[in-house]
Amino acid sequence: MKIVVCIKQVPDTAGGVKFNPDGTLDRSAMLAIMNPDDKAGLEAALRLKDQYGAEVTVVTMGLPKADAILREAMAMGADKAVLVTDRVLGGADTWATSQTLAGALRGLEYDLVITGRQAIDGDTAQVGPQLSVHLGLPLVSYTQNLKIEDGYVIAERLFDDRHHVLKVKMPCLLTALSELNEPRYMTPGGIFDAFQKEVTVWGRKDLVDTLDSDLGKVGSPTQIAKASDKVRKGAGTQHVAEDGREGAAYILEKLKEKFII
Ligand SMILES: Cc1cc2nc3c(=O)[nH]c(=O)nc-3n(C[C@H](O)[C@H](O)[C@H](O)COP(=O)(O)OP(=O)(O)OC[C@H]3O[C@@H](n4cnc5c(N)ncnc54)[C@H](O)[C@@H]3O)c2cc1C
Repeated sequence: MKIVVCIKQVPDTAGGVKFNPDGTLDRSAMLAIMNPDDKAGLEAALRLKDQYGAEVTVVTMGLPKADAILREAMAMGADKAVLVTDRVLGGADTWATSQTLAGALRGLEYDLVITGRQAIDGDTAQVGPQLSVHLGLPLVSYTQNLKIEDGYVIAERLFDDRHHVLKVKMPCLLTALSELNEPRYMTPGGIFDAFQKEVTVWGRKDLVDTLDSDLGKVGSPTQIAKASDKVRKGAGTQHVAEDGREGAAYILEKLKEKFII
């Protein structure tokens, strides 16, 4: 079985989000990490590898520095890594990103493609479903659990407050939730091996059956017209002067006022 996992390098938003004066993310001021949903997707692929002996390839589109997350993925256990990078791919929206990834995946073999549900920077959750359309693959989104049986993926899909169990013939595409599993740590041996292995670097010419008009800024139908901060809420009341019964009565009154109770 061959599995391709799409992973994206994103700024770590856990330590706070930093913005440029024009409202765009100041990526240089934030640590770059592997997107959490993608890490869970990779872990799921590695567990299938442990169980069935699958070959796992990770693919990213990004700047040359995205090499770091590919090495991290190999240190966790991925077998191969592809970095798709080219000036003409810059400024891509989700359409152009998914077209680029589709062009790369057409040059690879796969039975199963896994993407994260959502990237923590762009936040659109569009790339996985778009990729499934470009590649003509059935899609399971919000995957929380999965196993393989006789060429089928049996996937548990989170649906509001319940689960759907779906049976899908491979090849297919899953979008993974970070709740899917607890990703493994890199091992010292794995880190050493990851730096011995080669990352395959592809540019525009390596993308299969892809039109120039679908790539980069030129191929992006959406444009960010304006970026601005959300209007922030005030700090609210943090201290209640009264204590005991009076304090409780005050809080009760405020909750009623706001129709919370
Ligand atoms: C006009 C415009 C210009 C933009 N210009 C830039 C720019 O110059 N630089 C920039 O960084 N962003 C840019 N963006 C943002 C960029 O479009 C998105 O970051 C990107 O398309 C992915 O969308 P997303 O982050 O919402 O991913 P989602 O759809 O939320 O991601 C879902 C999953 O798809 C996969 N995935 C997504 N992106 C990649 C990737 N690159 N490689 C591998 N897998 C991936 C991952 O598995 C991820 O979990 C621009 C957006 C617009 C609208």
